[in-house]
Amino acid sequence: MSFRAHKCLLAAICGALFAAGFLPAAALDRSAARTPSEDYPVVSEARLMGDETRTRFVADLSRGIDLAAFTLADPYRVVVDVPQLVFRLPAKAGETGRGLVKAFRFGLVMQGGSRIVLDVTGPVRVDKAFVLDPVDGQPARLVVDLVAADRDSFMRNLAIENQARRASTSANRAEREPVAKTTDPRPLVVLDPGHGGLDSGTIAPSTGDNEKTIVLDFALKLRDKLEKTGKYRVAMTRSDDHFVPLSDRVRFARTNQAALLISIHADALAHRDTKGHGATVYTLSETASDTEAARLADAENRADLIAGVDLSAEPDDVTDILIDLAQRETKSFSMHFARGMVSEIKTSARLNERPLKAAGFRVLTAPDVPSVLVELGFVTNPQDLKLLTSDAWRARVADSMVQAIATFFATRIAGSAPAPGSN
Ligand SMILES: [Zn+2]
Repeated sequence: MSFRAHKCLLAAICGALFAAGFLPAAALDRSAARTPSEDYPVVSEARLMGDETRTRFVADLSRGIDLAAFTLADPYRVVVDVPQLVFRLPAKAGETGRGLVKAFRFGLVMQGGSRIVLDVTGPVRVDKAFVLDPVDGQPARLVVDLVAADRDSFMRNLAIENQARRASTSANRAEREPVAKTTDPRPLVVLDPGHGGLDSGTIAPSTGDNEKTIVLDFALKLRDKLEKTGKYRVAMTRSDDHFVPLSDRVRFARTNQAALLISIHADALAHRDTKGHGATVYTLSETASDTEAARLADAENRADLIAGVDLSAEPDDVTDILIDLAQRETKSFSMHFARGMVSEIKTSARLNERPLKAAGFRVLTAPDVPSVLVELGFVTNPQDLKLLTSDAWRARVADSMVQAIATFFATRIAGSAPAPGSN
């Protein structure tokens, strides 16, 4: 059930990327998912050389691989897609730039596929991208040469790349639409642990704990508890450490006709502010409750930029939906659930001083699926962080959420309001 649906989604993304020429054939080999991690090529070092006119990115590899490199605009990035790799790099690798590269990130984007994203200082051209075989005791090396370009030629190249990409992406999208048929009448709850793979989300300055791991651990616990009740089908947008684009999370819930989507995150404040604390439940709104909520939605919506997703190839429905009046009913279900969630979790978790807020989160834009986003707490607050990484706390808060979900469905079934998605 949930697993099969999830695999379909992965295969579809994988297929789209592959068809667009962004992934080497090896990434489509499902058997790669079963290979022990020791069998994946290992990246042991990555470095930058050169200056503002020409910059070289080099990564040392345990063996040769295929790669595909392409550029993205606004902000300017270079994306390098490779088969699944094990990155044995220092935690701070990629934080310091050189020449045309401001910083870089790396990680899994799907089973079988990793990605390196270089943030660049301005328009660039990928002059060369290749892998050198090991020779004379030197390891295999992945090399990407970038040269400075002007915006006009950068955008011209991009337009050519995009045309090919869009054609193959929409073809794949069409194939992926069929809904996983089931005769199981129980409502489907989609759990959406934020971030993943090369997008770590927020990072605790004190311990280095990542949001992507904290929220996945929590979501897995919540899934187990929900499944145990026997009342729901439960599916997850990701159940391991790979990246899922925001629009694919929304599409996953819609395609599978979810009755509820719960996106799970952990917030952070900048400038060593350790005061912000407690859980907050967010719903979708065009206007943010306050500047903090607006800041958070911006930060969460940046996930796709961080992971090098090409938003220019996305259909417009996700953004247009914000003003769609047909959403009213879903909105009121979402609000109803968010209120219930707050009143349940106040018994088990510390709440933020304003625990119920709204802002323009892209992941909450399914027009037919009631959706909320829960920030479990702040990784920048030492006390919150201790709770977020505690098994006992996670179990308690997951129990409260199970209760909130039970109440939501009980009142929905008892009430006369039509079920979401039934129009
Ligand atoms: Zn987040």
